[in-house]
Amino acid sequence: MNRISHWIDGRVVESTSGRSAPVYNPATGEQTGAVDLASVDEVDAAVAAAREAFPAWRATSLSKRAEIMFRMRELVDANRKEIASMLSAEHGKVLSDAMGEVARGLENIEYACGIPQLLKGDYSEQAAGGVDVYSIRQPLGVVAGITPFNFPAMVPMWMFANALACGNTFVLKPSEKDPSVNMFVAELLAQAGLPAGCFNVVQGDKIAVDRLLEHDDVAAVSFVGSTPIARYIYETGTMNGKRVQALGGAKNHMLVLNDADLDMAADASVGAAYGSAGERCMAISVVLAAESIHDELVDKIAERIPTVKVGPGDEPGNEMGPLITAEHRDRVRSYVDDATSEGATVVVDGRDDVPADGFFLNPTLLDDVRPGMACYDDEIFGPVLSVVKVDGYQDGIDTINASPYANGTAIFTRDGGAARQFQFDVQVGMVGVNVPIPVPVSYYSFGGWKDSLFGDRHMYGPEGVDFYTQGKVVTSRWPDPSTSAIDLGFPETR
Ligand code: NAD
Repeated sequence: MNRISHWIDGRVVESTSGRSAPVYNPATGEQTGAVDLASVDEVDAAVAAAREAFPAWRATSLSKRAEIMFRMRELVDANRKEIASMLSAEHGKVLSDAMGEVARGLENIEYACGIPQLLKGDYSEQAAGGVDVYSIRQPLGVVAGITPFNFPAMVPMWMFANALACGNTFVLKPSEKDPSVNMFVAELLAQAGLPAGCFNVVQGDKIAVDRLLEHDDVAAVSFVGSTPIARYIYETGTMNGKRVQALGGAKNHMLVLNDADLDMAADASVGAAYGSAGERCMAISVVLAAESIHDELVDKIAERIPTVKVGPGDEPGNEMGPLITAEHRDRVRSYVDDATSEGATVVVDGRDDVPADGFFLNPTLLDDVRPGMACYDDEIFGPVLSVVKVDGYQDGIDTINASPYANGTAIFTRDGGAARQFQFDVQVGMVGVNVPIPVPVSYYSFGGWKDSLFGDRHMYGPEGVDFYTQGKVVTSRWPDPSTSAIDLGFPETR
């Protein structure tokens, strides 16, 4: 059985904690590995390695840092298939989806290649007589990333690419459910020329996370995961004086107006609800259907669902894989079990004809769903799409804005004015106009509002660079010594 250990100071380090967690192939249900769970001492060793590496790394020139990122870009590009199959084996997502994950992660490494340009500051000559003022951005020190199971490669890339390029050193605590890929990523970073200690991986659970949150040498924490843990990370990390960005869960609504192209809206709903078995924080989990098109739209979605090919991620042609664990599959299924008694209608029942092995649940469609039902209120994080009937635009926007989650949303319409009004009104961080999964490209930043993000910086892109650096402003004078005199007044500029 595969043992997955830590990566500390440029090498694999086996844990001596005596604790481990099982890793499964979700498509077969078999345990394929065991991941070490770090002790406090092992987290301390990773942070110490990162702290030790920091002074030399931050002093490394911008062009050298960019060169290493360019090499990493080439290495990830050359190993796309290998990374994707590692993802598929432990997460369960189908290979084409895993290739998409690698591609979107790679964009963040490409963005970080531009770090010399991104870290340029401002300069004001002659702010006062003989005085120049300029701003610089400097790295924070050791920064930590704590990541979820659903994008085991991409989400760490959202973080470490910019963090390292900005001159920080990094300690990653990946999800214990699919931990292997980041050991490979650590090897690639080493091959790219990143010095030992700059990037470390500690495998672990709450013990590792809590140690990172309280460690005096950790300056900042980036987190992506569920809302209750995101809130906990934000509160604990900031209480301990750290800069924290903590991205939480989601319940993303797609509003379909009367004038939308219903075939396009149905295609988009099916792709965005069931891709990656609904285990995406940007998945569409609720369709708000305007009353006059509701029945037709539900029919169109229902007739498409049987065409979705469900099966093991490594079999070509499959479009949707299993869920991450048996417990999670059972939890998702329980929402379907309870839906009818809550007043919803099960239009397509994904509990039928499920493969005997593995953690599968087929695509499920619920209609007549209303706020207040558990299947509406909770983040299900599985292949369950709920349809809620709304009167029209205003009812739709009110429903979306009443949700505590505010990660992504989309409107489907042919009316440009309605779409523009939607973008103006909607209280959600990422908005799609006839685009169901509006994940921003790497040169914008990713993040939701309300309970989908705690902190004031979104992830990656310009806000990522901002998060991983702190500003300094230098006021400088190189005067003619003959003009020097004692002056007790407050410095004036005019
Ligand atoms: P999770 O919150 O269970 O775990 C995330 C990380 O936190 C893991 O590394 C885990 O080991 C750690 N963790 C779990 N419980 C902890 C505890 N009690 N104390 C300290 N650390 C703990 O999330 P998950 O199940 O791995 O991922 C799915 C969730 O992530 C969904 O809610 C999804 O919406 C969310 N997500 C959000 C985004 C986003 O950008 N907003 C992106 C991807 C996933």
